[in-house]
Formats: sequence, C-alpha cells, structure tokens
Amino acid sequence: MRYLSTRGHADRKRFCEILLEGLAPDGGLYLPESYPQIAGRLAELRQVWATRGYADLAFEILKLYIDDIPEADLLALCRKTYTQEVFGSPEIAPLRRLEDGVYLQALSNGPTLAFKDMAMQLLGNLFEYELARRGEELNILGATSGDTGSAAEYAMRGKKGVRVFMTSPKGRMSPFQQAQMFSLLDENIHNIAIDGVFDDCQDIVKAVSNDLEFKRRYKIGTVNSINWARLLAQVVYYFAGYFQATTRDEQQVAFTVPSGNFGNICAGHVARMMGLPVARLVVATNENDVLDEFFRTGMYRVRVGADTHETSSPSMDISKASNFERFVFDLLGRDAAKTKALFSDALSAQGFFDLGQHPAFAEAKTRYGFASGKSTHLNRLATIRDTHQRFGEVIDTHTADGVKVAREQLQPGVPMLVLETALPIKFAATIEEALGQPPARPPGFEGLEAKPRKVRVMPADVAQVKAYITEHAAD
Ligand SMILES: *Cc1c(COP(=O)(O)O)cnc(C)c1O
Repeated sequence: MRYLSTRGHADRKRFCEILLEGLAPDGGLYLPESYPQIAGRLAELRQVWATRGYADLAFEILKLYIDDIPEADLLALCRKTYTQEVFGSPEIAPLRRLEDGVYLQALSNGPTLAFKDMAMQLLGNLFEYELARRGEELNILGATSGDTGSAAEYAMRGKKGVRVFMTSPKGRMSPFQQAQMFSLLDENIHNIAIDGVFDDCQDIVKAVSNDLEFKRRYKIGTVNSINWARLLAQVVYYFAGYFQATTRDEQQVAFTVPSGNFGNICAGHVARMMGLPVARLVVATNENDVLDEFFRTGMYRVRVGADTHETSSPSMDISKASNFERFVFDLLGRDAAKTKALFSDALSAQGFFDLGQHPAFAEAKTRYGFASGKSTHLNRLATIRDTHQRFGEVIDTHTADGVKVAREQLQPGVPMLVLETALPIKFAATIEEALGQPPARPPGFEGLEAKPRKVRVMPADVAQVKAYITEHAAD
C-alpha cells in the first residue's frame, strides 16, 4: 500500500513514513492510492468481530493499509490498545438502542471520555513503536480547545521517546476538561495555558512549525486530526457498529456523525468506499454549519474568526473542516489539479469555492451517500431533555446534535447509528441548563478537580513557548 497527496505531489509513501508527518510536502492530505475492497469478506470479518473481538477486527482492517509493520507486531499493538481496562467494556464500541430504528454507538468510554481516544490511544502505541525502531524522539506540539489535547496527553503519557507540549486558551475549557489535562503529572506531559483564545494557540503552533530550523532541531511533530493513522483507526468502529446493528451481510445501515473537522465522518466514508453497506452518512453540525451548507448547496465557505460561534457543543466549533479536502478529492474523481485549485488557490484568494453547478456535486448524495443537518443550542437542550424524559438516558451536547439531525434523516428499514462522541460530564454546565441537574460522574473521576495540577501560564508569545520547549525538550 502506498499513499499519495490530494494535491498531486509525485511522492508515493508507505504507512510508517506518513505516520509521524502532518501534511504532505505540497500542503495536501495523504490518502491511500486505492481503497482495499472487503465486499467478499464481510462474513469473515463479522466472524472475527464475533469470536475474536474489537482488537483483532482492528488488526484485520489496519493490515490492509499497513505493510511496513510485521503482522505479529501490528496485532500486538492492536491488542495492547483496545482493552476492556482502557475502554470500559469488552465490545470497546458497544451499540445500544435508543428508540425504534435509532441506536447510539458509544465511543466515549476511553480515558478522556470523548471519541478521540479511539484513535489517539492507538497512535500513542504506534508512535512509541516506530520511534523506538528508528531510535528517534519526538516533541509533539499542539493547540487544543479541549478534547484533542487531553486525548493526546492520555495517549502519550509515559511513552518512551515522546514529549507533549499542549497549548490551550487559559480558562476557556470546561472545568472538567481543565482538570483532566492539568492533573497529569507525567514528566513527558507539558500543559501550557496561553493568555488568549484558541486561535492564539493555533497561531503559536503554526509559527513554531514554520521555523524549519527550530522544528528540525527540536524534532517537533503534531497529532492533529489530519493524521492518516488517526483516521484509519476510526474506520474500525464503523465496521463494529455495522456488525452489531445487523445479522446478515446484505443489510444496510446509516450513520449520523456530530462533525467538526470532518475527521470522524471521513473514516465512515473510507469504510463505505471499502464496501461496508452504508446507505447514508449524515453530517450533523452545530451553529458552525460550514459542512451543512456545503452538502445542501455545494458552497464551501470558510468562516473568519468573528463568524465562528462559541457554542455549547464546542468541539464542533470550527471555521473550516481540515479533513474535508480528502472527500472532495474523491468526489472529483481524484483529480489532484482540481483539488489543489480549490483548496490552495480559491480558498486563499476568496475564502470559498462553489461546486453547486459542478456535475459531481449531486454525487455527494447519490453516489457517496452524504446528507446533512444542523442543530442549535435550543435544539440541543430540547434533545437532551427529551432523551432523558423518554428513555432515561443523559447524552452529551455533541451527541444531542447528532440525535436531532439523525431523526430528520431516517429511512424505513435502515437502522440509524448515531455516534456518541463524548460523555455528558465533560459539558456539565449545559446538561444542568437542560435538566436542572448535573450529569452523573463515571467511576474513577471522583475528586478530579481537586487533584494537584501541572500547568505553566504564558502570554500569547511565540518566543516564550519556544524557550519553554528548548528548556524541556531534552528532559
Ligand atoms: C472532535 C469532536 C467532534 C468532531 O469530530 P471531527 O472528527 O472533528 O469531525 C465531535 N464531538 C466531540 C465530542 C469531539 O471531541
């Protein structure tokens, strides 16, 4: 298996070469040259799921994309990652029925209680494995508004050869999220609270990464959602969800995915391209409806900072969807020149492109199965309240956006699987607003906010962040 760039760079790389990289050299995103087909193997994979479980299913899927890690090692990495101890149940991503035709697939029972653990935990083990094999080290520098940073820290804590420097906007994450991150006292984890907003953090990360000499000298890397290995790890739970919702391989299902950067649902697109019988992939957005606008009209219009709303499903508060280029590349018949013209030229010149009149646009729905919808704060509150009253279930704000949109897209006879992307305790204030009572705290998280903390506060100043990295990069 070789990987190419969506913008047409001539290089063809193997999995472990792109594992530690972000963007391709031409600014594109990596995708496999072709999607391995599983159409004739569904029964066999169902059997793997039923008898050997999630970790072995992950191995069977990952090995179709990874040919530069010996199979025995890859299997061991999958089995080390996907355990009941870490993910809270033997199914790892269990499915439960909400109402007729609507199911919730739990992806949020990992260490940080959001779906990002599903991929990040594997990434931590893959990084440690590959860095040891190369005899190298890596300093991960990131910016987070909540879920990504904590998932990365819990995945990398105690890992050999890896340090994490995670910037976050001071005082702007939920109290639970702050406590989760800052209570990590591991030597290789560094929390940096920036006096500013999330964009300031992102600008600092960009500025440091653009200093190529500094980047090379201090071996700076990232773990953002464009990383192909993260996306690949997410493909597995679409299969696990399908096998739990169906009994026969001719049956179809649909997924609704609370979306921000289009990473999660892009993994669903990959699963579907491999031949998983998925009737529909429904993109659910919040007030930041960049993606809903595209799937309704063909217009992709990135928002400026001032047009990006701070919402009660904050992990979906995006101004542009960083993985979206992968889907558009496929939609345009893998035309790299056209993809580059849209994402590099049109977006930087005018901030939008419009495929509304392009013959391929209709295929987003007809051939690729996409649909979309939007949910607002009031929808979110109403959905949380209704789900609690009728089913005794408390769902988080992002999942509520998914449930709201899913109900608008039901098709008779097709089970709709809504991905549960976080647990309610992470966004307790909104749950309390909706229900008049705080959500239950899962066992193991008692007293989290009172634990000792390790965090360095800094102004939004690139030089100070660099000095901090310089000081700690050799610890
Ligand atoms: C990251 C995140 C999302 C958005 O996922 P994307 O892959 O960026 O589309 C949705 N919900 C929660 C809780 C998240 O943490």
